[in-house]
Amino acid sequence: MAADVVIVGGGVMGCSVALRLAEAGLRPLVLERSVPGAEASSAAAGILGPLAEADHATPAVRPAAALRLGVKSRQLHAALAEQLRAEHGVSVGFRRCGLMRVAFDERELESLDRHAALLERAIVERIDGDEARRREASLSPDVVGALDLPEEAQLEPPLLLRGLALAAERAGAVFRSGAYVREVIVEGERARGVRVGRERVEAEHVVVAAGSWTDLVRGIERDLDLEAAGLHPVRGQIVATETRPPVFRRIVFGAGGYVVTRPDGRALCGSTEEHVGFRREVTFAGMRGILDLALRIAPRMAEAPVLDRWSSFRPGTRDGLPLVGPTGTEGLWLATGHFRNGILLAPITAEIVRSAILRQPLPLGSEAVDPRRFRRRA
Ligand SMILES: Cc1cc2nc3c(=O)[nH]c(=O)nc-3n(C[C@H](O)[C@H](O)[C@H](O)COP(=O)(O)OP(=O)(O)OC[C@H]3O[C@@H](n4cnc5c(N)ncnc54)[C@H](O)[C@@H]3O)c2cc1C
Repeated sequence: MAADVVIVGGGVMGCSVALRLAEAGLRPLVLERSVPGAEASSAAAGILGPLAEADHATPAVRPAAALRLGVKSRQLHAALAEQLRAEHGVSVGFRRCGLMRVAFDERELESLDRHAALLERAIVERIDGDEARRREASLSPDVVGALDLPEEAQLEPPLLLRGLALAAERAGAVFRSGAYVREVIVEGERARGVRVGRERVEAEHVVVAAGSWTDLVRGIERDLDLEAAGLHPVRGQIVATETRPPVFRRIVFGAGGYVVTRPDGRALCGSTEEHVGFRREVTFAGMRGILDLALRIAPRMAEAPVLDRWSSFRPGTRDGLPLVGPTGTEGLWLATGHFRNGILLAPITAEIVRSAILRQPLPLGSEAVDPRRFRRRA
């Protein structure tokens, strides 16, 4: 059976887009060079923190647009988690656990205030160090103030990936593992499919969702200036531990990183942002930085065991915003470049791509992530 849409990459983007397109009655085929969820999407911490991330913007970024899309996507996650649970019996560990961003000195307190001012109408509380410790007893005595963001949430990315792939398949999507896409076939001004080795796989639409490897797929450079878009891998390392009782209830941001605690006491500490190409390593320096920041946030973690560690590659872009939607080549779409927030932004990304392909009105704020902002000039 021929596919209507070929999706290149089976990460959180490819799987989310496949689910929404299959539900809309199209026949998506996901071509994944490895297995679904093999890369960044399963390595992520699972923070759904649009408010916490709002000040992580480069000056070129329009933070208001990113914030709006992030908040909308966090809402969509709640509905998606419920859908996966009710229809497929899969729990993704979605919890509105809240997030606290802590400060250790006067300069960081000022930064908290600037951050709070960006948050428009969101619920945010600015509290002092003692109040922060009343809410999270394991916080360091050195914490002098905090922002408490009760609406932020978390989930477990490997569970989300499994749930999405299962739901997409049941809705009619087909997954092919071990299929390395070399090229998008463009003929007569429109995409006609892709090339997997010598095989030609035809479809009316092609969605490239290949994460940090997107610009290695030939054909997307036809209308886009990839140099200007600046897609690049940003390595992030994570150290996993376990604490009893669970060290925190909320996600805690501070000291340049974060601690994400699951309800059963597992905790992920991260992360690094490194420009080292595709070197898939966990390094002494990376781990030292992560362990130092975790101990600064919660000295109690000194006795916690190191249970696991890993690294993966966030797909970064030059302006800090993802590339989602039309490319300028008819039938060729992108869903990539989500950097630190790909898990958070997957549901809104799937909405944008589905609406664009079906020629329906796009969600508010989509223009900020339109790939054609990097369109080649004639
Ligand atoms: C350490 C770390 C922590 C993170 N924490 C969070 C977090 O807490 N919250 C959050 O929202 N985000 C987080 N992120 C970011 C998030 O993981 C990414 O933004 C997101 O997973 C990107 O999804 P993706 O589908 O675009 O890419 P990926 O998950 O990398 O998937 C791309 C897929 O495409 C496949 N592929 C590539 N090239 C080809 C080809 N030519 N042919 C076929 N298949 C191909 C790959 O094998 C891969 O499976 C984190 C990232 C890291 C590294």
